[in-house]
Formats: sequence, C-alpha cells, structure tokens
Amino acid sequence: MNKNALDFTVFPSVLMLENDIVAMTASLLNGNNTTVGNFTSGGTESNMLAVKSARDYHRANKCGGSGRPEVIIPSTGHPSFIKAADFFDMTLTVVPVDKKTFKVKAEDVERRINENTALIVGSAPSYPIGVIDPIESLGEIAIEKGVRLHVDACIGGFILPFFRLLGEKLPEFDFSVRGVTSISADLHKYGYAPKGASVILYRSKELRIHQLFTNASWPGYPMANTTLQSTRSEGPLAASWATLNYLGKKGYIELSKKVLIAREKLIRGLEGLGYEILGKPEASIVAFRRGDVNIFQIADLMKSKGWYLQVQPGSEELNNVASLHMTITAAHEYSIEPFIESLKTCTESVRNKNIQNRDKSINDVSRISFNPEELNSLVAAISHSLSTPDEDSGSQMTLINQLIRTMPSELVEKLFKTIVNEVFTPTRKDEKDN
Ligand SMILES: *Cc1c(COP(=O)(O)O)cnc(C)c1O
Repeated sequence: MNKNALDFTVFPSVLMLENDIVAMTASLLNGNNTTVGNFTSGGTESNMLAVKSARDYHRANKCGGSGRPEVIIPSTGHPSFIKAADFFDMTLTVVPVDKKTFKVKAEDVERRINENTALIVGSAPSYPIGVIDPIESLGEIAIEKGVRLHVDACIGGFILPFFRLLGEKLPEFDFSVRGVTSISADLHKYGYAPKGASVILYRSKELRIHQLFTNASWPGYPMANTTLQSTRSEGPLAASWATLNYLGKKGYIELSKKVLIAREKLIRGLEGLGYEILGKPEASIVAFRRGDVNIFQIADLMKSKGWYLQVQPGSEELNNVASLHMTITAAHEYSIEPFIESLKTCTESVRNKNIQNRDKSINDVSRISFNPEELNSLVAAISHSLSTPDEDSGSQMTLINQLIRTMPSELVEKLFKTIVNEVFTPTRKDEKDN
C-alpha cells in the first residue's frame, strides 16, 4: 500500500506486476504480441483514457475533419464515456438501442459516423441490460470508415471468456474482431480483485502512445504518467496480481460456473413469478420489470427484508423502461432460492396494496410543478434523508425514484449536483460532539 506506482524507476516491481497483469488480460481477450496496455484505477479511468487516446490519435493522424472530435456511444453505454466527452471537450453522439434486444444496431452507428468521429463504442456487455452489442459488425464499419472502436468489457472482460470455456455460445467481442482498437476490463469486478483495479488494452503502441503524459519543463522531477493519476498506491496492483495468480484459469472457471448456474436459476425464478426479463442476458446481469406493480415499491420492500435490488428508474422523457437490476457473482450461489421466495411475498403484498389505492400511482408525481422554492425544499429533504440513514430511509426511495423517472433527465442531473454539493459538507464541530 505504501509503495508509489508513479515511479517505476524507484519501484521496479510496478513494471513487473503491471506488465504481467496486462499480459494475462490481453491473452484472455485474444490479444497478440502487438497488444499493449496499462493498469488503471477503475473502469471509468480505463474508458476515459481510451477516449482521450482516440481523440489525440485522430488529431495526430489527421484522420478526418479539423472539427471538434466526436465519440459515438449506444444509449446503454456507460456514463464514463459521457464524462470523457465532457472532460476532453468532445462532441458526444448517443445512438438509441433496439427496443427489443437492447443492442445498438451497427447501421445506426454507421449513419452517424462523419469526418470528426474519433471513436465508436460497443459494450460487452452493457451494464443496464447485460447484452453484448454487435461488435463484429461494428468492427467492419470501423475498418471501412477508418475510425477507432473501443469495446467496454469493464464488467464482461473477466467473465465472458470463462463463460465461453464453459460452453456458452457468445458472439465475438474482443481483439479477435479486427476493427477493435481498444478494450477495457475491470479487475475489481469479475477479476475479484480489491477496488481500484482495471486494465485498458490497445491493439498497438501507435494508439497507446496518445494516452501517455510526459513533462520535462517544470523545475521538478521529469514526469511520465501512464494514466490520469500520478502518485498512486501500488496496493491494488499487487493485490490484483496476487488474485489473478491465486485463482488462475481454473479458479475463474469455477467462479464463473457458479455465476452461470445462479443466473439460470434466477431467470427461471423471475419468469415463474411473472416478471419480464429485459433482452436476453448474455453475461452476469439480469434486468427485469413488470407492468402490473410499482417495481420501486418492490425494491423498497425487498430492502426492508435485507435484499438490495438496484433500481433503474429510467426516464419517461427518454422513453427508457424502469427496471430492477441484478449483478450476479459467485457469492450468490446459495441465495437465489431464498431471494425468489422473498420476491414472491413482496410482489404479492405490493400488488394487493396497489389494488387498494390505484390512484396513488406514478402519474401523481408528474403533476408536481417544479418552482424553485419546491425544488429547494426537495433538495433539503433528500439531502437530509441521505445523510441520516436509518431504517425508514428505504421507503422514501419509491418517491425519489418516481421523481427521477418523471422529471426531465437534465433537471435530475442538476438536482443531483445540488444534493451532492449539500451532502458533502464538512462535519461541523457541534454535530461531532453530539
Ligand atoms: C463498471 C463499469 C464501468 C466503469 O465503472 P467503474 O465504476 O469506474 O469501475 C464501465 N462500463 C461498464 C459496462 C461497467 O459495468
């Protein structure tokens, strides 16, 4: 933990551990001897670096127009790409995914490619739904149009290859697809490493060089950074190396098998209760919904029973369905049956409640008009409930989720900034004494 990964000349173990980890990750994702990469703090950093490298490659190689470089993502793409476009001053194009498969259509991406396009993105799989975008078709388009293609395998990188070894039929999504120029894969997800661990891979050094930052003009030490960070702990790097070597291929296959079995049990159980699964789950994520009950209430009730379901409130404005989201890991081996039992009870009780007071539905919320005063009191109420967690705070989430679903996303984003700005207020001495 106390060694500094900033300086590989002082701590040569950084180079050894990092190059080992990148080699293992590259071999898992069908890289070859031209593949290079780096260890980063997480998926967001890996994706942001991929965008930054593509932007600078595009500029340096005069790939196209001299306009503002652009990045094209599917609507299910991770917000880290939106953050990258924001931070690196690029134009962002979001392509809606197919309403049934929840995958982006390659031809829809193709139509939006222009001379300023620096990068197109596909997910393997997408976080909200757990399906893999058509990477092979995107790869063909990338080659034809001369743009870079990044595959976001943050959550799939360390599990899909093992699913394949276990006999799952999966589409090609890695460097075996010729047009793929970079891939991100998170060790702190299915690598089962501690948090702060991800890998960004590139097909070649010609692309990766645009990720690097060097400085020899200040009066201090000459600086060479591989990632966004400078001084950083070597701890997550060493822990990742240890985890990879400890588990080995055999260990990851065993863990992945547990995930597969749990996923199938979960899907059967959910369908048995009348839930609709969104898309056809190809990885370790299952998103589900139903029309006859308020799923936000289900999530709150489940939370009171000790089950945490991630709510995806979606947006009426953007026509996104609301769903509940589960990421399955090997730790869920024995929890699917009791989970389905609890969900059955909760579903029935929310259903009965709904029949009694039908008109207290989601639509009530949309009638709230947002004047600044109301917004301020809303911010105060939400900030308060978030910073003083208690047994009851769960039940308030239904209303909050309904608000998020109903309000325009831009307003939600503004509201969130205000709330976070409030919540992160230094502890005052009088509060601490209490
Ligand atoms: C987790 C994830 C990321 C990055 O998330 P971090 O929280 O920064 O590690 C990016 N894309 C996908 C698909 C993910 O699941």
